[in-house]
Amino acid sequence: MKQFCQYHPTKPAHWYCEKCNKALCPQCVDTRDMGGYRQGEKLHMCPNCNQQVQWLGVANIIDPFWKRISDFFIYPFSQRPLILMLGLSVLSALLLRPGLLGVLCQIVVWGITFKYAYAILQATASGDLTAPKLNSHTLSENFAPVVKQVGIYVAIAAAAGVVFARLGIAGGAIFLVLTTLFLPAMIILLVTTESLIQAINPMMFVTLAFRIGWGYLLMYLFYSILGGAPALLGRHVIQYLPPILQVFLFTLVKIYYTFIVYHLMGYVILQYHEDIGYEVNFDDFKDEETETLQAALEAEDSEIRLQRRVNQLIKDGDHDGARDLIENETAEDGISDPVLSDRYFTLLKMTGPTEKLIEHGRRHLDLIAQGGQKEAAVAAYLECLARDPGFAPEAGTLFKIGGWLNESGKRKEAIGAFNRLTKVYPEDPLVPKAYFRAAQIFNDNLLNPEKAKKILNGLLKKYPDHDIIPFVERYLGQMG
Ligand SMILES: [Zn+2]
Ligand SMILES: [Zn+2]
Repeated sequence: MKQFCQYHPTKPAHWYCEKCNKALCPQCVDTRDMGGYRQGEKLHMCPNCNQQVQWLGVANIIDPFWKRISDFFIYPFSQRPLILMLGLSVLSALLLRPGLLGVLCQIVVWGITFKYAYAILQATASGDLTAPKLNSHTLSENFAPVVKQVGIYVAIAAAAGVVFARLGIAGGAIFLVLTTLFLPAMIILLVTTESLIQAINPMMFVTLAFRIGWGYLLMYLFYSILGGAPALLGRHVIQYLPPILQVFLFTLVKIYYTFIVYHLMGYVILQYHEDIGYEVNFDDFKDEETETLQAALEAEDSEIRLQRRVNQLIKDGDHDGARDLIENETAEDGISDPVLSDRYFTLLKMTGPTEKLIEHGRRHLDLIAQGGQKEAAVAAYLECLARDPGFAPEAGTLFKIGGWLNESGKRKEAIGAFNRLTKVYPEDPLVPKAYFRAAQIFNDNLLNPEKAKKILNGLLKKYPDHDIIPFVERYLGQMG
């Protein structure tokens, strides 16, 4: 049964910590470079106990091939194989000549195609689901595997000759059906053993096909149905086009098909590697999702890493641990990230102590008020006030919160906030404005013009030269 990440219940786990009995996805384990002379080698550690974690193996990560058929169709369209497919098809269309040159050109095109297809198969089988790079290693060096593949076909043709001669047409036909059935097993053997002799040994390839079992038959069905596609396309579409385009399209479709089938065979090796006895190492495992994730994780700053660890501890129910971690990690520089600040605030609400909540409350309110998070700011302010009636954040923040309290219909609390500003920060430049706003709420919302007038007249007396006075006078005039 597939194991999923302790912290991400929908993500398959890649790792397992024996000590903590936890399955972890790549995002949740700590990945470290060995450094020094083993640079590039990665160590994977449990975030809880700092011990090295065990790889869960391919089976836990990948879907069976029949669940990802669409991925096989998409695979040749990733940049590298696509460039190669187009390039080779253009080449074969342009160099379409009768005679030796034409034949040579076909040999080059198909030599390169099978060379690259073989690289696809090898990469996929070892767990690398991204397309191989286009370089001399994948395209032109060491044609031995391609020659060996041709060797398989030569061996089949030779055997077919013998069978047809001895058993006649019917026997020969049965032989050909059987060989096409076992052909993928031969190619898989060629890749896993690198030996042509083993690949064409019936004892070997029949055993291999039976070890894979139903999956093998399914793969065979899939690739034979797929194999009909180029012919079908040829009959219904391609033959009505100009010859040069015909060659181009027909080559393109055939290469496309070849890449899919080789990718599929590689995937079957990967999926059944334990049954086949083929070793897959986690260092080789690569898929687009894990690659992107890995890159994102490497670029990640310490703040996000800290947040992730905090979230893990919260999910584990270890609230004290999460709180301590934040305190230790931010002891020097303080908290500057609103999300982390909110986590810490919530943790303090749950675990206390109140003094810390009040102390962090000020910093927290400044942060989220700056970010314009009205509702959160109002809620956090009221929470702190309930715990400590003398609580006041900075003047500017308090002024904003007063406005937001009023917006949300909490008139009395809004007046309370403006009032608090004038009491706690009597010298602050915002004080006259706070009086004015409080008076407006008394008049507009609480229908208490007497109280409003009293405040406004006090304002006129106390700050006769302030910029706000013309507005106050106009407002008083409108009140009548
Ligand atoms: Zn996870
Ligand atoms: Zn652990």
